[in-house]
Amino acid sequence: MNRDIQTLIDLISSSSNIVAFTGAGVSTESGIPDFRSSAGIFQMDGGGFPPEVILSKTFFDKYPDKFFEFYKKFMVYSDVKPNQCHLALAKLEDAGKLKAVVTQNIDNLHTIAGSKNVIELHGNANKNYCVKCNKKYDAQYVLNSIAVPKCDSCGDIVRPDVVLYEEMLDQEKLYNAKCHIRDADMVIVIGTSLVVYPAAKLIKYFEGDKLVIINMADTPFDASAMILLRQKAGEVMKQVVEGLKL
Ligand code: NAD
Repeated sequence: MNRDIQTLIDLISSSSNIVAFTGAGVSTESGIPDFRSSAGIFQMDGGGFPPEVILSKTFFDKYPDKFFEFYKKFMVYSDVKPNQCHLALAKLEDAGKLKAVVTQNIDNLHTIAGSKNVIELHGNANKNYCVKCNKKYDAQYVLNSIAVPKCDSCGDIVRPDVVLYEEMLDQEKLYNAKCHIRDADMVIVIGTSLVVYPAAKLIKYFEGDKLVIINMADTPFDASAMILLRQKAGEVMKQVVEGLKL
């Protein structure tokens, strides 16, 4: 075990109000691509449109067929499982160490892993609703639909309950996340480039010094971190769980 992982274990041992702030990099070891890595979704073919344009509200309204073609291919995964990182965070919560997972992910894997207090800043791809009558649908309904998913009650479009580009984040979730981060005695940032705002801004509310970043690439917050781990999140967190005997 390297020295930084041992330091991370020591920091967790001396903390009791930890918040994990996670992004797409947490789920790459489960087989879901992130956005900005070399194999990320930003490199995928969007039929001539950049992914951040396709995943915007304007595009969704104008070209729902093209939106859902891209969304179903790259943003929803029905047969994926939590990895060592998701499972470790659930164990840390069970052990009373971790108080919340604040995630930008929409893949539901933290909840499937057993985490209970998960604040999903950008929504959840397993939750979908009819834009007219609000009837609820799961991800499988969207995946099974031909082209644009339609409500089986009223026939209008069924959309994912995720935050698209140009849309506001849920203010209650944002406030809840802000309070957890402000009150934390340790924040572990995992698998996020920390460039998507306003989510990334939340890190600025942390008042302590135990900021740990586990990420394969640089982030704008690296200079503020007490420890930086440029290793795979699942591999790091597996060793943390073993070291803490959880
Ligand atoms: P991002 O792609 O900008 O950054 C991911 C970061 O994780 C990169 O810096 C990468 O180097 C790092 N990384 C990749 N695999 C890693 C691993 N195994 N261990 C450690 N680090 C690893 O993603 P982001 O910062 O989360 O922001 C993009 C947006 O992407 C979010 O708003 C989110 O909603 C959306 N998104 C979500 C999912 C998902 O739900 N799984 C997938 C793709 C995109």
